[in-house]
Amino acid sequence: MPTHLQIIALDKIAYEDDVDIVVLPGEEGQLGVLPRHARIVTLLEPGEVLTRKSGEETSLVISGGFAQIGPDSVTILSDAAEYAEDIDMDRAEVARRRAQERLTNRQAIPDLDMARVESALLRSLTRLRVAERVAARRRRQAPGGQPPRQEN
Ligand code: ATP
Repeated sequence: MPTHLQIIALDKIAYEDDVDIVVLPGEEGQLGVLPRHARIVTLLEPGEVLTRKSGEETSLVISGGFAQIGPDSVTILSDAAEYAEDIDMDRAEVARRRAQERLTNRQAIPDLDMARVESALLRSLTRLRVAERVAARRRRQAPGGQPPRQEN
């Protein structure tokens, strides 16, 4: 019995499929969800959503939100979500730098919305981290790639 996973973002349904397992970025670390999970609603951090279906892994980044988990379904609501492969590293780097500069110059910026800047910084860092992690994983899995290494 698979789990029906839906990832709903502000502007689109970012992902919808039946999967064997989904790993979520929970508040207390990675949360693996298998079929027949108890019903819960839980908060999600900005981070990676990893799915596995017939041995194939798919990785997405979410900006954080909520997951409604049930015995045969997981529904994620997150402002932003995109496939790790679709992450534009340059754009994320520009966003990171912009947020970092605002934080550094915060005394000089009247009415700076600190919560907004901090969440923009966290989103950009998350995109950079997940895109790099997925690229490294792909390299290791490629023929002639490095042998698997333990990940934290
Ligand atoms: P930016 O300042 O570059 O717009 P942001 O963190 O404010 O970054 P979001 O509000 O999180 O952007 O996302 C807006 C939309 O753009 C979403 O659909 C999200 O998936 C997409 N998006 C944002 N940054 C990237 C990126 N680096 N690569 C690919 N898609 C992105």
